[in-house]
Amino acid sequence: MFFVFGAATKQEQLDFNQPVVCTQCGRYGNYTVIMEYTSFSIFFIPLFKWNKKYYVRSSCCGSLYTIAAELGERIARGENVTLTENDLHLFRRGYRETLKRCANCGYQTTENFRFCPNCAHPLQ
Ligand SMILES: [Zn+2]
Ligand SMILES: [Zn+2]
Repeated sequence: MFFVFGAATKQEQLDFNQPVVCTQCGRYGNYTVIMEYTSFSIFFIPLFKWNKKYYVRSSCCGSLYTIAAELGERIARGENVTLTENDLHLFRRGYRETLKRCANCGYQTTENFRFCPNCAHPLQ
C-alpha cells in the first residue's frame, strides 16, 4: 500500500472589503485580504491547511501588506475588523504609473525610460 501525498501553496481571497485612502498612492481604494496557505492532501483530498499567512492588498495600486496571523484569523472567521495603519506591515509597495512626456518630440510613455525611445532626448 502506498500513499500519494501532496502539498501545494494556495491563495484564497477572504470576504473582506474596507474602503480606504491609500497611504502609498493617495488614491481611494479598497483593502482586500488574501489568505495564503499550504494545503496538504492525501490521494488529492485536501486534509488540512497549515502555514497560513494573511496579506492585505490595496485595490488602487496593488500594494501588499502582511498582517498578524491572529488578526487574519479573525477576518477569516468573519469578524468585523477594521484595519488601521498600525496593523499593516508593508510587504511590497505598489506603483503608480506615471506618464512621462518627452519635452523634445512629445512622445509619451509609462515605461521607466531614461531617454526618449523616439528621439533619444533625456526624460526626467
Ligand atoms: Zn494605492
Ligand atoms: Zn522624444
